[in-house]
Formats: sequence, C-alpha cells, structure tokens
Amino acid sequence: MLPDNIFMKIIDGKIPAKIIYQDEWILAFHDIHPQAPVHVLIIPRKEIRTHAQIGQEDFHILAKMHALAQKLAAELGLQDGYRLILNCDVAGGQTVPHLHLHLLGGRQLGWPPG
Ligand code: AMP
Repeated sequence: MLPDNIFMKIIDGKIPAKIIYQDEWILAFHDIHPQAPVHVLIIPRKEIRTHAQIGQEDFHILAKMHALAQKLAAELGLQDGYRLILNCDVAGGQTVPHLHLHLLGGRQLGWPPG
C-alpha cells in the first residue's frame, strides 16, 4: 500500500518545497533527494494517485506536464539530453501516491534502471 500523499500538502502550502513553476493545473519543484544535478518533479494539482488511474479527461494535464518538462529542461541547461520517469504503484517503485513526472539530467544517466 502507498503511504500518505505528501505532495497534496505541498500543493496546499502546508509544507515547504522549492517550487520553480506553478499555474492553475500543475506545479514543479526540486526533488528533496536529487538523483542527478537536475531533479525536478512535475505534478498535477488534481489528486491522481497513479498512472493507472489517469482518465481521458486528464490527458490535457499530461500534455501540460510534458510541455513544462521540455521548457524546464531547456531552461535548466539540459541541452545534451534528459530523462523523464513516471513510477506507477508499488512494484513500479512509486513512493508518493500522487502522479508525478521526474525530470532528471545534468549527468550521463545509466540503463537499465534498478
Ligand atoms: P517516486 O518514488 O516516483 O514516488 O518519487 C517520489 C519522489 O518524491 C522521490 O524522488 C522523493 O525524493 C521525492 N520527495 C518526497 N518527499 C518530498 C518533498 N517533501 N519535497 C520534494 N520531494 C520529495
């Protein structure tokens, strides 16, 4: 089972985060335990627990998340490339039960993931 939704507390301003972008639909902030020189999380304001629970009505939010990832990658100097990761549920390595896209870059990333 996934733990509490700490990202909802960030959205509600109840706990601090290094927010670098926010609008009506989405926000982006630096990961508290960065796995690369750039490690940003992009999340919807809407409470969607996992990738498996995205509905067709949410597809426009995913588009906004990806457009922001592209923009932030350029602004944060990731011209050589970057990785987007979306862990889904327990076996997928998801630890926070609120949909989030990881934007990682700034070093050569390995493959396969753990
Ligand atoms: P995942 O394992 O895909 O669910 O990713 C959750 C990510 O959230 C991890 O990379 C954590 O380091 C990050 N994280 C957890 N709590 C916070 C927080 N309060 N502020 C920023 N990042 C966080």
